[in-house]
Formats: sequence, C-alpha cells, structure tokens
Amino acid sequence: MNDETTHPISGYCSGERCGICRQGATHKVSEVIFDDDPQPYRHPLTRYVCCRCFKTIMGNAVPCTVEPRRWIT
Ligand SMILES: [Zn+2]
Ligand SMILES: [Zn+2]
Repeated sequence: MNDETTHPISGYCSGERCGICRQGATHKVSEVIFDDDPQPYRHPLTRYVCCRCFKTIMGNAVPCTVEPRRWIT
C-alpha cells in the first residue's frame, strides 16, 4: 500500500506491482479499442501502475497527491 496517496485503492491492486517502475500498484489502466480496430472484440491490453506513473500518463486530473515522473531530465 502506498501512503503517498489520499484516494481509495482497490483491493484488486493488492499484491500487484507497477508495470513501469515496480512499486506497489495503486491503479490499473486499460487500452481503448476503437470500432475500426482490425480485431474490435479482442480483450484490451491492461497494466497495473503506481500513482506516479499513473499521473505521468494521465495528467493532473488524477486524485493522486504525488509528482509525475520525469522521463527526460
Ligand atoms: Zn510506477
Ligand atoms: Zn493514485
């Protein structure tokens, strides 16, 4: 569990690791499959992520009280 966050964390994240940085996972992201995908009925790709990585890809609208990662320094 990540005590940097102030939002609820699903029990489904328990025991999962961020697919990017390997910290404890607090979110899960899923691919959107568009109607014009060559295989529109396939299962979307999913990945568990931590708050920092989630904020990095989703932006400041997320409720996570952490700084986003800096990919380029
Ligand atoms: Zn991460
Ligand atoms: Zn979060």
